[in-house]
Formats: sequence, structure tokens, C-alpha cells
Amino acid sequence: MDLPKLAIAALGGTVSMQARHAGEGVIPTVSGEALLASIPELTTLAQVTVETLGMLPSASLDFEFLLRVLSWAKFQVEHGAGGIVVIQGTDTLEEAAVFFDYLWPHDIPLILTGAMRSAAQPGADGPANLLDACRVALAESSRQRGVQVVMNGQIHQACSVRKVDSLALQAFSSPIVGPAGLLLENHVRYLHPPRPRTVLPWPQQTTQKVAMLETSLSADTLLLENVLTLGYDGLVIGGFGAGHVSQSWATVIEHLCESIPVIIATRTGSGSTALASYGFSGGEMDLIRKGAWMAGFLCPRKARILLWLLLGCQRLDELARYLGSGIDPQH
Ligand code: ASP
Repeated sequence: MDLPKLAIAALGGTVSMQARHAGEGVIPTVSGEALLASIPELTTLAQVTVETLGMLPSASLDFEFLLRVLSWAKFQVEHGAGGIVVIQGTDTLEEAAVFFDYLWPHDIPLILTGAMRSAAQPGADGPANLLDACRVALAESSRQRGVQVVMNGQIHQACSVRKVDSLALQAFSSPIVGPAGLLLENHVRYLHPPRPRTVLPWPQQTTQKVAMLETSLSADTLLLENVLTLGYDGLVIGGFGAGHVSQSWATVIEHLCESIPVIIATRTGSGSTALASYGFSGGEMDLIRKGAWMAGFLCPRKARILLWLLLGCQRLDELARYLGSGIDPQH
């Protein structure tokens, strides 16, 4: 029987990092090919092609590079791949996942994975995560689920997953909705049915700039006041609680909303922004009246990616629809 085709791209990250000399910090050095050598059993599951598309810490990935990775993935699907795996650093895994998910038009799974322990560290989790990611990418039950993250035996949806711990092995979670599935004794088990997905067109423009600021107690308005003069095309604010800012920020935001889209998300790390609960100046009802958008369940970073993509494909008029389609458990 012909084995299914699986295409794997390595971009760098801790999973590919080693120290050149004893006592030095780890840096990306291990190629995708070498990573695959650590999971020989994969050859019994799939015909594998692997490419090393980058050797970067994930903090240095950018949207243009991710668009090139996505073009590579689409090319692989057009040439018969039945599953795609992208290996990258975990620091921006949740952002890359949602960026890909907004643009992934295929039923074929695109799975992201990485590692919390570097390649030569005792108990390195890279090989297990990579093999799990391949199993998920090859599973029939993963189709029509868009882009997912596989880490530490769990499968997470791109729209809900967050890195919630800086160094722990169990670093990823999906607040409120939980993981989409698990790997149990090497089998892929989903806990929820696939959600309907909406996919954005490819951005024709990539020069748009979206700023992101977080509220903090007693913060001045200096940066906020300069967002327009600095040339930003959009702004996302990680607001207090259910999407709130101080009175002084609310005044500047009203002015900004006359020129650019402003989205208010919650800085709390879990839950949704409110729509109709708080009436004080700087509360969500006031900010909505002033022209701001509420991010719902989207975290500030993911809201920024959505806004960047919508600006890039001239679909800003669909912002409300996309903000409403986050991880809302009702959907
Ligand atoms: N600590 C990060 C990782 O897990 C480094 C990175 O994101 O590249 O891969």
C-alpha cells in the first residue's frame, strides 16, 4: 500500500537549538533533516519530504516570511501532500498558528509544533512532539480543522491556543475551550467536532503597520497620542479586565477612531471582552460609542494579526464578522 505524503518544514526554534561550545547558550543549528533522524518510525507512516526553510528563533520570524512558508505549504498540497507539519520556536507559535489559520484554504491539516527543551537537553521533547504532530497531520479526523498546534500530547486550535508558561514542558493551553484533542497511545483522539472556518484572501499589501499597546495602572498617553504621527494604520490595545482603559486613554482613543481602526482586547490571558456591562468612561460601552471594536475572545496578539491581514486584503469592512468568530464556545 502507498503511504500518504507528508511535507515537513523546519524554521528553527528551541527544537533545533544546541550549544556550539560547552557553557555557551543554545542557538538554532539542527536542520529539519537531522530532526527527522530522531524519529525513524515516521518512515513506516508516510512518505516524507523535509525542508529547512529557516534557522531562526521564533521572535525573529515576520509576516512576510510566514507568507513564504504558507506558499511552500500550498505548493506541497498541490503536489499531493496529505498533511503538512511546520516546526518552529514556541515563543510565537500561537501567533504563527493563527496567521496561517486565517489564510489556510485547504481541508488538509497544517500542524505546528516545537519544543520546550533544546535538542541535546536530557528529556528533550522535540522528537516526541514532532512524531505526534506528524500523526495528527496524517489523521483523517484532522481534516477540515484548519491549523492546529501539537505540543506535549495535546492538540490545540490555532484560534484558542496560548503559550502560558515560559519554560515548563506543559507550556500551551487553550483557556475556556481546552484542547481540541489528545494523543492517546499514539492515536489521535478529538474531544470536539471541527468548527466552521472562514478564510481570508491572500493579502496583496504587506506594508501596513498595526501597533499594539497594553494598558497599565497610571500609564501616560504619550505613545497613544503619537500612534497616528508615527504612521500606524491600526491599533490594538490589551485593555484591563473586560476591555477597559483609563479616562485619559479613552479620550485619545476617541480621536484615533476617527482615522484608524482601534480594537480593544483583554490583557487578562483568558475570557472575552464585554459589550454591554460597564458604562463608565473608558469602559467597553463608552469605547464602543467612541468607535472602538471589542476583540471578544481574541487575545491582543491575535487581534493584531487579524487586523493586519484585513488591512492587507482590503477587507476591513468584515472586521466585525471575524471578531465574532473567535473561539466563542457558542460557535
Ligand atoms: N524558547 C523558544 C522556543 O521554544 C525560542 C523560540 O521561540 O525560537 O523555541
